[in-house]
Amino acid sequence: MAAAHREEGSSVRKSGEGAAAVRLEHLTKEFEGSLAVDDLSLELAAGEFFALLGPSGCGKTTTLRMLGGFEKPTSGKIYLGGEDITWTPSYKRDINTVFQSYALFPHLNVFENVAFGLRRKNVDKSEIGRLVEEHLELLGLSGFGRRPSTQLSGGQQQRVALARALVNRPRVLLLDEPMGALDAKIRKTMQVELKRIQREVGITFLYVTHDQDEAMALGDRLAVMRAGRYEDLGAPQRVYDQPATQFVAEFLGACNLLPVTLDHGELRLPDGSLVVARPGTMESTPQLVAQVGVRPEKMSIHAEGDEVVSRSNRLVATVTTITYLGASSEYEFETAWGGHLHVVAQNIDDRHIRLGDRVTVTWGETHGFWLPAPSDVAEVTSADVIMDDEAP
Ligand code: ATP
Repeated sequence: MAAAHREEGSSVRKSGEGAAAVRLEHLTKEFEGSLAVDDLSLELAAGEFFALLGPSGCGKTTTLRMLGGFEKPTSGKIYLGGEDITWTPSYKRDINTVFQSYALFPHLNVFENVAFGLRRKNVDKSEIGRLVEEHLELLGLSGFGRRPSTQLSGGQQQRVALARALVNRPRVLLLDEPMGALDAKIRKTMQVELKRIQREVGITFLYVTHDQDEAMALGDRLAVMRAGRYEDLGAPQRVYDQPATQFVAEFLGACNLLPVTLDHGELRLPDGSLVVARPGTMESTPQLVAQVGVRPEKMSIHAEGDEVVSRSNRLVATVTTITYLGASSEYEFETAWGGHLHVVAQNIDDRHIRLGDRVTVTWGETHGFWLPAPSDVAEVTSADVIMDDEAP
């Protein structure tokens, strides 16, 4: 794949160097001939909230399970704070895990569930009392200590599971789709809570999810995985605004893909109009571009007769669908070359755009991003393209 495996913000260091909280080096896991995790190298900074995102079966849970010590790698290394823990048993790793199922002890009350790890470590009794109460308060569970764990709502069970993990003050907390069983409203509340708690305790979180919004809302950085590797890694806004590949662009929200060709050093749409876009995210290797991506909310619609001054990044299209959603409306367009566009516009004025209207759609030069050529499209390299002065 042309642009797979981009990383920013921290390069992967060699064994023994640096102070990353977690470092995975060329981690691979094969299950009877099928490759679940494929030569994955990844580094998490201390105190970072890192989200591992991707579709079902891409290898997220297997990666988490290898880090937690529940699964043995086929090859590769795992470092925790610089120490090689690849073959260290799970219970000896300074790592805790919160699973989607919570896995609370049903015969114990809330207090004893949270105290469990501390008792095993023979922590002093009064210290256990103090720590458990402190963590019940942190999770908004003050007064719930005596409640049997079987008499809790899903959200409360999840908080107990978190308190039980955090009270041990692990170096790293792994969270495997921990909100999967919660309804949408509680999930939103828990997202805000979880981010607050993570900042407060300063523990490195690795959060596995297939929910794009959740990964963007929670992660200081995120990695988008596909088929055992990641295709892009970085701050959510960078990955959303400048995705490395078409897969990432489409997985992380909606995306219009505009076919472009090279004409005398300039990128042109099929109707001949000029496109200026950011040169994508693979600076160090020859950039292949055959299409330009633009997010639906980054496009503006101009009714027939409106003055449009920009010379580039504009096209004429016909309105085929309008969906009114209260705060915004969604528009579908057909372009002059038979392509389709999806535009989202806030309902902030009394625009009178109707089905069948021919409008002009525009977008800013920083809002378009080059994407690698699909294998069936002729490739254009960055060396061939004359960039506009204003485009970075
Ligand atoms: P999901 O979001 O559905 O949980 P995931 O991204 O977490 O998916 P994994 O559970 O890591 O994906 O699975 C990655 C691949 O490895 C899948 O093809 C899966 O079928 C396979 N796999 C996982 N565990 C095993 C196992 N114990 N034995 C055989 N194959 C497995």
